[in-house]
Amino acid sequence: MSKKLTKRSEDYSKWYNELVVKADLAENSGVRGCMVIKPYGYAIWEKMQAALDKMFKETGHENAYFPLFIPKSYLSKEASHVEGFAKECAVVTHYRLKNAEDGSGVIVDPEAKLEEELIVRPTSETIIWDTYRKWIQSYRDLPLLINQWANVVRWEMRTRLFLRTAEFLWQEGHTAHATEKEAIEEAEQMMHVYADFAENHMAVPVIKGVKTESERFAGAVETYCIEALMQDGKALQAGTSHFLGQNFAKAFDVKFANKEGKKEHVWATSWGVSTRLMGALIMTHSDDSGLVLPPMLAPIQVVIVPIYKGIDQLDAISEKVNPLVKELRAKGFSVKFDNRDTHKPGFKFNEYELKGVPVRLAIGPRDLENGTYEVARRDTFEKETVAADAVISKIEFLMEDIQKNIHQKALKHREDHITEVDTYEEFKDVLENKGGFVSVHWDGTTETEDKIKEETKATIRCIPMDAKEENGVDIISGKPSKRRVLFAKAY
Ligand code: AMP
Repeated sequence: MSKKLTKRSEDYSKWYNELVVKADLAENSGVRGCMVIKPYGYAIWEKMQAALDKMFKETGHENAYFPLFIPKSYLSKEASHVEGFAKECAVVTHYRLKNAEDGSGVIVDPEAKLEEELIVRPTSETIIWDTYRKWIQSYRDLPLLINQWANVVRWEMRTRLFLRTAEFLWQEGHTAHATEKEAIEEAEQMMHVYADFAENHMAVPVIKGVKTESERFAGAVETYCIEALMQDGKALQAGTSHFLGQNFAKAFDVKFANKEGKKEHVWATSWGVSTRLMGALIMTHSDDSGLVLPPMLAPIQVVIVPIYKGIDQLDAISEKVNPLVKELRAKGFSVKFDNRDTHKPGFKFNEYELKGVPVRLAIGPRDLENGTYEVARRDTFEKETVAADAVISKIEFLMEDIQKNIHQKALKHREDHITEVDTYEEFKDVLENKGGFVSVHWDGTTETEDKIKEETKATIRCIPMDAKEENGVDIISGKPSKRRVLFAKAY
């Protein structure tokens, strides 16, 4: 397979798919809509998991695990929840196969029909709230702050590697609280945690906001979200945090005795980010040469490539490089010394460029003589010759600088692609010719939102948390509006 990628300007979508496969992140599988995450892609996901898990624990959450299967009757208990997910549910109806009598192979054994059908979890509110009924009796049992790392299944019709798959990996937080105020604070807190992770680990700028009613999670009272903007001007919902009110507590009869001994329904939140974050990471930073990874999430942060002829030169280089590798590892950097003699340096350079390794060191006979390394950064392709005794401080500087630089670059792109307009004509023009977020007044009704979606495919990504009060009129209905919302075409 050619290593050369389609250019983003030619076909962004093709570029993305090729990049995911060629950089060895993931590939399509024999199962419709389900992907295989390859070791290099999984290593990035593991780094994301580790950082998020730490942030969840620092905010008081603990991990637990609930079943993959949900009895159909559970899912049906919260009316709007089941309505929202019904169309995407995979259902288990039988528990056994048998050999067909005509010898044509195995078939489902009709005798082995489940008494109650099971849903493969699309999300776990129902099974978890059925459990919480047993765990929560008194105000002393609250708050209950649980997270689960799991896979879920939503039978998506149009799938894309990482961005939208039928089975995906995620974490789902499910918390229970004594008061409405505390639950809202929790839901908001987790939106901030997600934004912190996106900005400071992924170097992906995000807008924090709330969803409109039509984009809200099925069963939620309020959905908070973080929205990112991809290089092609399309938005991506990167994480959601829901205030669920008492909907699930009522559906599953979860009550607690308050300090006065009176029984009250419990208040709930749930929040999740998924392997979609991998898609956000790839689409935000990468270029026509391949992946660009933020140092904080790169499985290999520094690669060292020797340039040599013959074993003696390689030995001499290794003598210099081995102690450096040791020292860098002791400082916590993930380093690879690629001394394979099966591949030429040029091949290796291309490979690490494609895989987005933030810093590459090369060392050849002349560097040996001069006591130097060639240091190249992936984000800008800049190269310089650095004295061996200054190379560690150079790498320390580059790790921070690359992290900052790619965030700045993405932020500038995002800021350049938020356009305020006041007429529907301008709105359509921006969507068509520029892309990005379009900031407009909206009258708060689902009708105008639907009309715009139907005519332009753009949806309200969020009502930003920091939206200023400003008097205006809806671009379609002319009705009054108090603040601007962000529309965009989205993944
Ligand atoms: P939700 O439970 O719908 O609020 O979604 C939780 C998180 O999972 C959000 O960050 C979504 O962006 C993400 N997500 C939803 N559907 C998919 C999918 N089919 N593939 C990957 N991620 C998804």
